Amino acid sequence: MTVMREHTPSPSDPKAPGGWNGDEALHRSPARSGDALARLAEAEDMIRAIGAGEVDAFVLPDGHAGRRVFTLETADRPYRMFVENMRDGAATVSSTGLILFANRRLGELLSCARESIVGAPLTQFLAGDPSPVLHAVYGPEGHGVTVEADLLDADGRPIPVLIGSSPLAIDGRSFTCITFFDLRDQKAQEREIARLDEAQAERLTELESAKDALALQATHDGLTGLPNRALLVDRINQALAAARRSGRCTAVYFLDMDGFKDINDTQGHAAGDAALQRAAQQLVATVRPMDSVARMGGDEFAVLAVDVDSHEHAVDIGARLVDAMSAVPRGHPNGEHLGASVGLSISDRGRGTAEILIHEADTAMYKAKADGGGRAEVFDAALDLQSQHRANAKVALQCALDERRIVAHYQPIVNIATGQTTGFEVLARITENSGTLMSPKDFIPTAEESGLIVPLGAEVLTAACKELGYQRSSPTHSGPWNLAVNVSARQFESGELPAIVRRNLEEFGLDPTRLHLELTETAIMALHTGVLKQLAEIRDLGVEVGLDDFGTGYASLTHLRRLPVSFVKIDQTFVQGITTDSEDEGIVSAVIALSARLGLRSIAEGVETVEQLDRLREFGCDEAQGYLFAKPQATIDAAMGHTTAPSTSLGFRQARLTIPASFPGL
Ligand code: C2E
Ligand code: CA
Ligand code: CA
Repeated sequence: MTVMREHTPSPSDPKAPGGWNGDEALHRSPARSGDALARLAEAEDMIRAIGAGEVDAFVLPDGHAGRRVFTLETADRPYRMFVENMRDGAATVSSTGLILFANRRLGELLSCARESIVGAPLTQFLAGDPSPVLHAVYGPEGHGVTVEADLLDADGRPIPVLIGSSPLAIDGRSFTCITFFDLRDQKAQEREIARLDEAQAERLTELESAKDALALQATHDGLTGLPNRALLVDRINQALAAARRSGRCTAVYFLDMDGFKDINDTQGHAAGDAALQRAAQQLVATVRPMDSVARMGGDEFAVLAVDVDSHEHAVDIGARLVDAMSAVPRGHPNGEHLGASVGLSISDRGRGTAEILIHEADTAMYKAKADGGGRAEVFDAALDLQSQHRANAKVALQCALDERRIVAHYQPIVNIATGQTTGFEVLARITENSGTLMSPKDFIPTAEESGLIVPLGAEVLTAACKELGYQRSSPTHSGPWNLAVNVSARQFESGELPAIVRRNLEEFGLDPTRLHLELTETAIMALHTGVLKQLAEIRDLGVEVGLDDFGTGYASLTHLRRLPVSFVKIDQTFVQGITTDSEDEGIVSAVIALSARLGLRSIAEGVETVEQLDRLREFGCDEAQGYLFAKPQATIDAAMGHTTAPSTSLGFRQARLTIPASFPGL
């Protein structure tokens, strides 16, 4: 029998390579570890010998009874080899908790040499409270119980393991075999799974809230948080279904802010957004909780009032909405308030559909706006006809633009002192498919309202410049003439007007001072800094700007001084009254006098009679335009006519009048 003992390697024993062959117990008490190096070598040898199955017995220390020989049966060798080479850590522990044997894997787990394991108490290698492990290993439940614990490796790192144990009785003494299953991979996997779970849960929450946001977006307006059109349509239809059962009234209101664009233009978009939010809050505060307020887009809102008692009640609500809107501050330092035009459609006993009621309310709103805004209007069928006309007119106008049927006509403007034609006002016409001409009064309002005035205005400007370019190169022309083109305030919205003007001047090689732009008084009063900047740019090109229809709007004479204008056109309603109405006469003479003092040219339009012309001359008016001289004509040539007739009957100082021969009274 090969016996391993604590000391005295015996190289003589051929069965114990490395020299272990004695009857001393292996004892690792620190008190006896004098010759540390030698003991280390012994321990290594011993472990290798056990592992290789080369040792049959060894002597163990036994607390009280001294030492005992512990025999390993030769037959067990394969088993011991198996233990030694197991993938799990394994140890044999004495009943007092000392480690008597540790396999290679346990050494690896603890990152230390086995000789520092063997002989040490098991608890030395346990992290934290050892009692659960001791309980599982030695406890009353006995063996077969597994417990998770952390081993402490040589560097003090915790190594998670699953500890299992089984009893071992040798020669009537009991030992315990303990296995240590490395849980590091499993723990890492568990951590990874937990991390993935968490990430997935987070992602799910994100997805969930994204879904909620989408649902909200589909039904609500982002800026005000109000329901949008789609949700309102749904609610109106539900209200109508309920009203069919209850027999009550349902009212739908369409609101459009008055002059809202100004806020965006003068105070910026953030101020515009804030004003819309205030308007939304005010509307919500004005209606009952069961009613709905929705944002329809831009500065348009709609309100649904359910279970309304009567038409009078519905109209009352409309008035309340108007009042509520006029109480909302514009956010301007001067403390002005918003205002709205409100259209109202009433459904009795669930008549109609959401779309119909919204359309009717919208149509009524247009009427309220056309009547000056700040009021509520109830829909009636006649209004619908108007809105139908409007829609048709818009389509027809777009069609005329697409088919290039917009043409420019020219009306001469005459110097009152000399009788010379100084230029022409350019006036738009649409050639209808029948060949007849459509007058501006039938399409300019639609063009203004729909924004089609922008392409239309550009078209007229180009046509006029082209005609003037043609005249310049014509051998018979008797210019140079000025060309006065009407410009709508809406043409300033995109900021491109200066560039468009410049392009036309360049393309047709025109002298910029020959191009004049006419802006109506109301348009110029609504102008803000952005537009004034464009006007200055246009003026810097050399182009003159003038005030059209003077006297019909709100511009006071003193305003004239501050505007970048160089001429004033006196509206024809005053001109036509100067010989019959003393008030008109007073206004016209005052405007002419003031213009002269401000260094502005005065032009009287709509001059139809010689008497009118005479009065204008008396007042010192610079220029005149009207049927007295010529109606607008299709070309400058036609407008000029080809005659230079004596004009003394008109009182011109010069004997030549370069205007058509056919005008009355010549
Ligand atoms: P407006 O700018 O005040 O143009 C003068 C209008 O008075 C023209 O009407 C002209 O034909 C008319 N008129 C001229 N002399 C007399 C007269 O002696 N008696 C009477 N009763 N009327 C006279 P028209 O051509 O029908 O244009 C109407 C309005 O349409 C214009 O008024 C102008 O505001 C607008 N408009 C015309 N063309 C354009 C355009 O290209 N762009 C813009 N934005 N507006 C245009
Ligand atoms: Ca004009
Ligand atoms: Ca005019």
